[in-house]
Amino acid sequence: MTIDLQYDRNHIWHPYTSTLDPLPCFPVKAAKGVYIELEDGTRLIDGMSSWWSAIHGYNHPALTNAAKEQLDQMSHIMFGGLTHKPAVEVCKKLVDLTPDGLEKVFLCDSGSVSVEVALKMALQYWYARGTPKSKFLTLRHGYHGDTFAAMSVTDPDNSMHKLYKGFLPEHLFADSPSSRFGGEWNPSDLDSTIQLFEEHHHEIAAFILEPVVQGAGGMRLYHPEFVRHIRRLCDIYDVLLIADEIATGFGRTGKLFACNHAEISPDILCVGKALTGGYMTLAATLTTQHVADTVCSGEAGCFMHGPTFMGNPLACAVANASLGLLKQGEWETNVARIEAQFAELLPEFSKLDCVADIRYLGAIGVIETHQPVRMSEIQQAFVNEGIWVRPFGKLVYVMPPFISTDEQVKTLLKGMYKVLSEHFSE
Ligand code: PMP
Repeated sequence: MTIDLQYDRNHIWHPYTSTLDPLPCFPVKAAKGVYIELEDGTRLIDGMSSWWSAIHGYNHPALTNAAKEQLDQMSHIMFGGLTHKPAVEVCKKLVDLTPDGLEKVFLCDSGSVSVEVALKMALQYWYARGTPKSKFLTLRHGYHGDTFAAMSVTDPDNSMHKLYKGFLPEHLFADSPSSRFGGEWNPSDLDSTIQLFEEHHHEIAAFILEPVVQGAGGMRLYHPEFVRHIRRLCDIYDVLLIADEIATGFGRTGKLFACNHAEISPDILCVGKALTGGYMTLAATLTTQHVADTVCSGEAGCFMHGPTFMGNPLACAVANASLGLLKQGEWETNVARIEAQFAELLPEFSKLDCVADIRYLGAIGVIETHQPVRMSEIQQAFVNEGIWVRPFGKLVYVMPPFISTDEQVKTLLKGMYKVLSEHFSE
């Protein structure tokens, strides 16, 4: 049976898509390893890891078997008053792998929800301490999700805060750092942050940031020294630090967590996306004993959150398999290998007139163009080259599965080069 594309077009809303003139969608039949197979048999080399998540490639035997075995036991059971091995095992691994001091795990349904949970934890923490604070400090060009609280700390222009004026809480936005990863550190990057700390620290519950890589807000790769200073400033001004590692977590930047580049631990950490190797939705918010115990010593006596599908056993079982693969350590050489390919091949793109900048870190490669791409045309052109790349605006970027071979990365970049040179010359 073929996929009813007309029905899809007439009735189904895709991410950030208009119903008036929806962009075309390509029908997928299957995916295995780094290949996405379209309904007509076309095979595409995946450059997106399904938005940072499918780090081990698609249909990985270890993950697929974990899901199958868990299905025979139970696919779901409520988490209130009950617990199970997949949840306990995944939390053990998370505490073990994440930066020091994060010992309490709250399992969430998605990345955005884990940010909601982190913000609620910070608010409940200050309420319990008897000094309620309700503002968050964050960076311009940040992205933390599409639910309301997560959106309120996302870049106000990119996420069009004006559409929700009067409803969306207003928070504090500092300039995002301009010192690049691997470049020179410029201390004046901190100026606007320091000013906001000085003026508002008494009302700031937490600083939330994506360490080292600002993802969907602009694919900016910035200096770890900035993160180190933010940790220091949070300590000085008695403000909690929330690290959103939903995109960067689990090896993508070349370290297991981007915080490791700065050698810091946050008070609260959000992870998601690659947690299940891209199999299904699961995220987590981790915090310290101190924050957790303070939250629970307050008037509520507990943390006020508990969704129906919390700790879903099926998702936890797959996450366990994915974290198990990471623990074997091969990801590190694979990510270094992909980074080496980027180092060799991305500078070539600077020769194209349409290219304004190239940058890369770990298994993240970014080409920024002078003009925004024409989405429907460029998407088809990538598919014609046998690669799956989904740009936004002026950002043509890839974050391939870690298992991608050198040859596959080369094919991906060769295809991108050809498409970009033709797309902007017309
Ligand atoms: N934070 C960051 C840094 C993200 O990249 C994303 C997803 N793009 C989110 C939060 C939201 O996660 P989700 O889409 O799973 O809700």
